Parts: sequence; structure tokens; C-alpha cells
Amino acid sequence: MLKSIGLGALLAILTFLWWNGINVWPAVLILGLVAVLYYSGAWQRMMQNRGARQVVTKASVPTTFDDIGGQTTAKSELREALDFIRYPERIAELGIRPLKGILLTGPPGTGKTMLAKAAADFTDSAFLSASGSEFVEMYAGVGAQRVRQLFTEARQMARRDNRTSAIIFIDEIEVMAGKRGQHQSHLEYDQTLNQLLVEMDGMSTYEDVRVLVMAATNRSDLLDGALMRPGRFDRSVGVDLPDREGRLHILKLHTRNKPMDPNVDLIRVAQDTFGFSGAHLESVCNEAAILALRDGSKTLMAKHLMEATDKVLLGEKLDRTLREGELNRVAVHEGGHAIVAEVVNPGSVSSVTISPRGMALGFVRQAPDDDRLLQTVSELKADIQVCLAGSTAERFILGEQSTGASNDFEKAWDIARRMVLSGLSSLGVVHEEGLSPDSLYRTIQDIISEQQEQVDGFISRHQSMLHHLASLLLDSETLSGEEVRNLLIESQITA
Ligand code: ATP
Repeated sequence: MLKSIGLGALLAILTFLWWNGINVWPAVLILGLVAVLYYSGAWQRMMQNRGARQVVTKASVPTTFDDIGGQTTAKSELREALDFIRYPERIAELGIRPLKGILLTGPPGTGKTMLAKAAADFTDSAFLSASGSEFVEMYAGVGAQRVRQLFTEARQMARRDNRTSAIIFIDEIEVMAGKRGQHQSHLEYDQTLNQLLVEMDGMSTYEDVRVLVMAATNRSDLLDGALMRPGRFDRSVGVDLPDREGRLHILKLHTRNKPMDPNVDLIRVAQDTFGFSGAHLESVCNEAAILALRDGSKTLMAKHLMEATDKVLLGEKLDRTLREGELNRVAVHEGGHAIVAEVVNPGSVSSVTISPRGMALGFVRQAPDDDRLLQTVSELKADIQVCLAGSTAERFILGEQSTGASNDFEKAWDIARRMVLSGLSSLGVVHEEGLSPDSLYRTIQDIISEQQEQVDGFISRHQSMLHHLASLLLDSETLSGEEVRNLLIESQITA
């Protein structure tokens, strides 16, 4: 009715203006365009997007807990928590407060999103995911509106699919739920977080659809305290970088659809990929398959996995051609690192190469025999020796050092500093605040010079072997840890 009156009035105004000789055609054109947009539904969509842009992604391919490698503790903690959704009657009988939120904390790429998807599969819940950054807008109130929309859509989706529960997954929750009052445009951030808290407080066991919020962050220290209080995110599950067993499991999962050469030793690859996340490992398997394709090989071979690991760690090989003398210097430098690393930590060298990648002109890839959580004084000293070995080799074999070792010195300095601050130096137990910069500096220098003496002695005794190793590197560009070890055995070099 109102629409018809408005349309009639508009037509009357336009006719009146036209009668008085005013050109009304541009206005007619614009109004016509608006009418077409309106009736095709595009207008409504545009207006909706301005206010509350769709922030939701639905799970497409189901993920199960069996698709997730390692993370044994996280998986079992999560399974236990999810019983709240699977057995609601038991929970209600015992008068237990429903679990409303689970926070997954850990470094990027460790499988937090996969765990949330697997949780949805495990509990037969509808799954919706959004990222914290999608709730942040300049306009006050829009984020809060999106939070409301997310919860409404989760319930609708579950009802549509005849499910009794829904899981909402919010990635990077620290972006929308940081400590309140700290942002410049804090009103908008605070409103968004308040709305999330309101929605979580409003969830109850007695609804036809039970909603569980799962959130992921790698900065739980930034989260507002209100979010973490009981009754909101009641559980926090740590999702850490995988250990060696975990890496092996992940590698097996990501190679199960790939033709593998029988000589590939995934245990060795797991050992070589210390510090890699699940996402890194998936990338190693994928890159290895690409390299096999480039090689025209029907299977993925050990060399493909080795190169893929280097690529994921350091970046693509560079075409940069070094001058003859420079290449020799890199070979001597890396050779120095490799033999000292192998002597102080037998079996630790995975490969040594002089082909430039990323920022490195060459490098030695080391893999500790076991994942180390703690380091002893002798292990730290050994690490310093490995750092110093490159420049020492240059000095003994080529007569002078180069700038190529500055990064090594930085690393050595950091290790020595860590030793001092952990109470492992001649100063005994110290606190950084009470330690003068001068005394810290001198103690670090003493530790480093003591290790330098050891390295000088070793390299000077084995110069001919180092010459040999450098020439082998110049010939073949890359040597495996095995080849370096054989060379040491032939030369009868031991610690
Ligand atoms: P971010 O914090 O960056 O969002 P995330 O912890 O949520 O990362 P996912 O998105 O779950 O990580 O993982 C990214 C990809 O890495 C997955 O699609 C999968 O291929 C691989 N991946 C990570 N962790 C694992 C794992 N534990 N098992 C198998 N694959 C994994």
C-alpha cells in the first residue's frame, strides 16, 4: 500500500517537473535502474552485505580424527570434552553445566581447524567457521550483528540438516576478542566481544540445537579475561608442533595417496623435519610429488623428499650464479660446519649443500637424534662450536674470513647469552636485571672464545680432509649426511 502511494507521488512529481520544462530523463533512468536491481534481488543482497557480510564457511569434505596425525593428547582431550554433546541426557541428569566453548591454542598449521572439523564429524554436528578478522569493521555495531547472524545461521543449518548440535569455529579469535579497552576504535571491538559473550551466555542444554563454540589462537595471552572465565571457554586444548612420532604419522597420512619408492625412509624424513608443523609436512609431500613430476619419475624418491624439505625450509633454489672464488668459499664454509656438526653430534647431519636458496648461499641441515626439550651445557657448547666452524674453516683453508659468517656469530652469541641467563656460566645463577651489560658481554665473549679455541684446534688438524670435502661439494653441489659420515670414517676422524 505504502509502496503504491510512494510510486504514485514520485510519478506525479516527475510529470509536474516535465510539464514545467525540466529535463527529468536522467532521474527516470536512475530510478529505472534501481527498480531493476530491486526486483532482481541484487539490491537486497548489496544492502545486506554492507551491514552484515556473510562470514560463514561450511565444511565441505568431512574430516575425521583419523585424518589428523600426531596430536594424540589434543585428540583425546577433545574427544573427552565432546562427550558433553554426544550424551546430553547424561549431562542433564547429573545437572552438569553444558560445555560452551573450547579454545585450541598452538602455533600456525598444527591442525586446529582440522580438529574443529573432526569434532563436528565426531558429534554429528553442523559445522560453520569464520575468522576473527571478518568481524572487525569500521562501522560500530556491524561486528556484533555478524556474531548474532553466525549463531542464528548455525542453529538454522543444524535444523535444516536434522541435527541436534552445531559447532561454530572461530579462527584467530584474538583479533575479535582481545582485551577490552585496548583498541583505538575500542567501542566496535568491545561491542563485538560483548555480543559473543551474550550469545555464549544464552546457550543452554534445553534448546533443540546445542551450540558449541570452538576457537583457535596462537596468542592466548591477548584474549580478554572474560572470555576465559568458567561458563564460556571452559576448556583449553594445546595443539603443539608434532614430535618425531607425530611427524611420522602426518607424513604417512600425506603420502598414502602417492606412489612411494620402496627405498624412501619416512622415519628419516620425520627426523630431518624437526620443528615442522603439519602444514609444513603436507607441503613437503606435495612439493616432493611436484619434483617427481618434473623429473618424469613414476614414484616419489628419497631425493625428492630431501629437496622438498629444503625448499619448504629455505625457499626455492635461486638462479644466482656465484663467482668461482665465492663458490669455493661457500664450499669450505659449509664443509667446516658439516664436519664439526658430525663430530660433536654424530649422525646429526642430514645434508650439506652449496646451492643458494632463499637468503642462504649454502647450508648444512641438521636433525637432532631426538626431539630436544632441554639442553645441557655440553650440548649448548657443541652448538656454539658448529656455528663457529664455518668462519674457522675459511680462515684456515683460505687465509681469511668473510662476511658470510655474521649470521653464525649472531646465533653463537644468542646461545651463549642463553647459557649465562640460565645460570650455566662462570657467573652462576644470575638475574638479567642485576647483571651489568658489561659483565654479561664479557661472560658471553669468554664462552665463545673458549669454544673458538676448540674449533681452531680441530680444523687445523683436519685441513686436508676439509679440502677434500669442499672439492666433493664443488663437484656434486649437495652431499647427504651419509656421504659426510663415510668421509669421516675413511679419514678416521672422531670427536
Ligand atoms: P592456522 O593457525 O594457521 O589457522 P591450523 O592450526 O588451523 O592453522 P590447519 O588449517 O588445521 O592448521 O592445517 C593446515 C593444513 O596442514 C591441513 O589442511 C593439513 O593438510 C595439514 N595439517 C596440519 N596439521 C596436521 C595434522 N596434525 N595431521 C595431518 N595434516 C595436518
